[in-house]
Amino acid sequence: MSILSNNRRLFKYCPKCGEAALRFVKSSKLVCGKCRFEYYHNNAAAAAAIITDNKGKILFVKRAQEPKKGMLDLPGGFADHGESAEEAIKREIKEELCLKTASVKYLCSAANIYKYKGVTYSTVDLGFFCKVNDISEAKASDDAQSIIFIAPDKIQMKKIAFKSIRKIISFYLAGL
Ligand SMILES: [Zn+2]
Repeated sequence: MSILSNNRRLFKYCPKCGEAALRFVKSSKLVCGKCRFEYYHNNAAAAAAIITDNKGKILFVKRAQEPKKGMLDLPGGFADHGESAEEAIKREIKEELCLKTASVKYLCSAANIYKYKGVTYSTVDLGFFCKVNDISEAKASDDAQSIIFIAPDKIQMKKIAFKSIRKIISFYLAGL
């Protein structure tokens, strides 16, 4: 399992007793062999938005950061502590596109693997169909390098950064 082998090398020292006795008993659970400290490397929740223009073209962002810098993605990101997925997607739409969200409708979720600075995270990405107040005011910011609108029949799945995002888009397209 790749999550396990990647992280096994990184997480070695117990944060409680300091011994090099931490081990993964499964990809989401660390146990210290010395003091029995336990830590769960749980699934992280993230949200992604499908936003369309008045012709039904889908708004994509080009990723400004690794992983998958330069590839296409939907606007979105991790839910902060204390935040609902709906709150997270509204915040991300504001941060990445400088837009105010008018409505949010849940579509589906998909699992993903996200490597960041050497750590492998397992995520569950929640897809939403979002309406914004004025899409003409969209401008790329933060994690978004630029914005591109693509018609549903012109989408090339191989240019999309993550399998979870491809799944969310496929789910949306199947409902059209
Ligand atoms: Zn320990």
